[in-house]
Amino acid sequence: MNFSALLAQHPVFELVKKSAHSLGIEAYVVGGYVRDLILKRPSKDIDFVCVGSGIDLAKEVAANIGSKKKFQVFKNFGTASIHHGDWELEFVGARKESYQRDSRKPIVEEGTLEDDQNRRDFTINALAISLNEENYGALIDPFGGVKDLKKKIIKTPLEPDVTFSDDPLRMIRAIRFASQLNFDIAPNTFDSIIKNAERLKIISAERITDELNKIILTEKPSYGFKLLYHAQLLDKFFPEIVELQGVDEKNGFKHKDNFYHTLQVLDNTAEYGGDLWLRWAAILHDIAKPATKRFNPKQGWTFHGHEDKGARMVPKIFKRMKLPLNEKMKYVQKLVLLHLRPIPLVRDNITDNAVRRLLFEAGDDIEDLMTLCRADVTSKNMNKVKQFRANFDKVEQKMKEVEENDQVRNFQPPVSGEDIMKAFDLSPCKEIGIIKSEIKEAILDGEIQNNREEAYEYMLEVGRKLKLKAQ
Ligand code: ATP
Ligand code: MG
Repeated sequence: MNFSALLAQHPVFELVKKSAHSLGIEAYVVGGYVRDLILKRPSKDIDFVCVGSGIDLAKEVAANIGSKKKFQVFKNFGTASIHHGDWELEFVGARKESYQRDSRKPIVEEGTLEDDQNRRDFTINALAISLNEENYGALIDPFGGVKDLKKKIIKTPLEPDVTFSDDPLRMIRAIRFASQLNFDIAPNTFDSIIKNAERLKIISAERITDELNKIILTEKPSYGFKLLYHAQLLDKFFPEIVELQGVDEKNGFKHKDNFYHTLQVLDNTAEYGGDLWLRWAAILHDIAKPATKRFNPKQGWTFHGHEDKGARMVPKIFKRMKLPLNEKMKYVQKLVLLHLRPIPLVRDNITDNAVRRLLFEAGDDIEDLMTLCRADVTSKNMNKVKQFRANFDKVEQKMKEVEENDQVRNFQPPVSGEDIMKAFDLSPCKEIGIIKSEIKEAILDGEIQNNREEAYEYMLEVGRKLKLKAQ
């Protein structure tokens, strides 16, 4: 196989060839870019490996880019990168690595291209294309990576036990690539993952979460989660979700398997085009079911309060997984907390009040909440699913009407604290808060309209009740 025609599509390859030649070193394109080139998947990251200093090569390439703009070389651990438009070019010197049993920190030495390919994680990621004059465009495929791409198989280049014990993160990466590419994992590679699963303990939460998020963002994330589960990796870093697995039966009452239900909900949010955080909300929406599970002889299994407890579990899980503890987390908490609320709103005689309250609480996340609710409808009976989802269409119609009238989605108090202080000649005191909250409640209960006139009148009324004197 020769790739010189494909390499001609991007000027950077000629440039690296020239730069390496002038430094008198060998250079190759390696890894994910070569894999994706063969799979015809778009890819913006290009990794180059050279037999020599990656930093020197990066500097030479940056200097040779025929642009007035100076290109910066970012150095980090013997690698260097150049951002070139949309492209991210990464340069590294070929390395030979050996690992000690209890550490992820390898002893790194300079090596040949072959050494470098040996330390790569999978056959399909160990492909290289020569950028050297004598065989420009030639594919160097020592482990049959192209064959595995055709067979759609993830396999380690060396004995899997060696590859996985050197860097146990590779076990999760195997599943990540299987999910992204819709590949199988070779049986002996998968057996070795099960065997080495305990070793995941030495890997940092950040690295695991990076890979997990990539699995979550695939088209059908349940595939990756099922692989993680069967490989016995999932319980090592996400025991709460594994706890959801299983069905209890008592006096003829059975509940659904909440693990598989959750995965179905996750796939549904993916199908609806949900982003990473909506997908996290799907993953966590029922997370407190095991903790709230009770048996009631009349009703069977109940999970009262799982939405509330679940929302309270989110920060601990986010913290441990090194997910961001910011507004993204709050968003996930909010959706977990509110995920049952739209369900009773499908009844015909529901009051505007309930709708108004939910709009107020969900704010701008109301659409995502409704998407989660639709995704949460899982049943083998497709007619039932269709009907339940159609009911949510009606709820949304009602929400639209209520919002047009009352604008509570982005609620701003129509009367401010300043107004209240002025009206009753007050300095800051707790009565102001009481009045504000009574006004808000009256609006949400539909007693008054959400406008300044009615709110001001109402304020005077509440003030009178509190025995305040209007000015
Ligand atoms: P993408 O960037 O699309 O997610 P990729 O294959 O480029 O996929 P990266 O994580 O960017 O994945 O890694 C680039 C290349 O570096 C891989 O193709 C692989 O050859 C090698 N590599 C990355 N991480 C490891 C690892 N933990 N062990 C061995 N090789 C690795
Ligand atoms: Mg990459």
